[in-house]
Amino acid sequence: MTTPLDIINPSTEEVITQVAMLDVGEADRVIERAAVAAPAWRRVTPADRGRLLRRFAEAVDAHIEELAQLEVANSGHTIGNARWEAGNVRDVLTYYSAAPERHIGKQIPVAGGVDVTFYEPLGVVGVIVPWNFPMPIAGWGFAPALAAGNTVVLKPASLTPLTALRIGELALEAGLPENVFQVVVGEGSSVGQRFVTHPSVRKVCFTGSTSAGQRIMEGCAAQMKRVTLELGGKSANVIFADADLERAAAAAPYAVFDNAGQDCCARSRILVEASAYDRFMELFEVAVRNVKVLDPRDEASEMGPLISAGQRESVSSYVEGAPVAFRGHAPEGPGYWFPPTVLETTDRSERTYCEEIFGPVVSVVPFADEAEGVAMANDGPYGLSGSIWTRDVGRALRAARGIETGTISINSNSSVRYATPFGGFKQSGLGRELGPDALRSFSEEKNVFISTEE
Ligand code: NAD
Repeated sequence: MTTPLDIINPSTEEVITQVAMLDVGEADRVIERAAVAAPAWRRVTPADRGRLLRRFAEAVDAHIEELAQLEVANSGHTIGNARWEAGNVRDVLTYYSAAPERHIGKQIPVAGGVDVTFYEPLGVVGVIVPWNFPMPIAGWGFAPALAAGNTVVLKPASLTPLTALRIGELALEAGLPENVFQVVVGEGSSVGQRFVTHPSVRKVCFTGSTSAGQRIMEGCAAQMKRVTLELGGKSANVIFADADLERAAAAAPYAVFDNAGQDCCARSRILVEASAYDRFMELFEVAVRNVKVLDPRDEASEMGPLISAGQRESVSSYVEGAPVAFRGHAPEGPGYWFPPTVLETTDRSERTYCEEIFGPVVSVVPFADEAEGVAMANDGPYGLSGSIWTRDVGRALRAARGIETGTISINSNSSVRYATPFGGFKQSGLGRELGPDALRSFSEEKNVFISTEE
């Protein structure tokens, strides 16, 4: 059975369309079709699998503007960001289209014969995606999973299914066989949970909140199901006094307010060496007030609304009574708008400093020296991303090695590149996505020994 679900534009609060939400029975049928399609898909030659993925990338490329406009309407992403996100799906598909022919095992020297390893596909992979980056996060799962010879069922978040549904159609138009890549819209607690409990799903690739990730990991234990978890973050932007403060301050708003702060890699804690604190705050205030929070369809827009009324309520609840230093602007009227907000935190046990707010709110705190800066960056359950700003190369590398995080940038706030591994330390996740080794986590390594004894 399916039920209609209203899809709301977060910039206008208007219903833009309806989509069909599947129930568990429907989800089972989709999973079973994926399981039936799996043996033929794994037999497609590596070169042909690569060719199909390149055609899929070309189909996405031919629809970048359409996909971007859909994301602006469904998710309130700025048009500039949405074009980048659709382009990222194309690039990730292109990158992994070369992988099937390079998914190379080993020949291991042993006595009495020849020993070789193979990477075998797992079968059906369930990819579960949150609402904050519907296109890229889906692609980071489905592209390497398909390249490794698995069939994929993709579940977007119920708030933001439109681009995933369109990408599913593009896969078929590009020539991927029926049921190799399917998209299902459904509740996380029922349809998403079915990926965990259905025995034909051999791996769950989940991105979302740490609490949902914990439940999924617990559930997967019952069948020893493979799982990758990309979870929450509370990353630090560590700014030393010897840094190019102008550059660091000009870049800092975009490291946390991009996508209205709904970014697992958001640098939502800015740690500034005490001797540079006042100067940094002066520069930072100017930069924050200049962030263009506009209708996301406007080419000049740098930040759009939050995703939903519920998210705005949740973000507001953090800011009530918090030590606000200054705020940027936000439009009036309909839409789930929230202005960029800067807190000067003195009590590091405050929930604004410890918890992932997932909105445009940042805490700024001074630190005394390198040891304290690194210790403060590490103080918390997460470890996903982060930045270090300094002109001292030795300090940059010491701090980068000392901070417990999956990715960190020096004199830059970049987080993700499709060619480099991405994932979290501590409660930010388990496993890695992207990069040259992504297919390994969608494969089983098999060892075969061939006797040469007479
Ligand atoms: P969420 O955990 O509520 O939902 C994420 C997805 O999981 C949705 O598709 C949802 O329907 C599904 N889901 C929820 N409960 C489930 C369950 N019990 N079983 C199976 N599926 C279930 O997260 P959200 O609110 O959509 O996204 C925000 C969170 O995602 C933040 O914590 C953010 O940091 C995190 N995130 C992490 C990364 C990363 O790469 N580490 C990237 C983006 C977002």
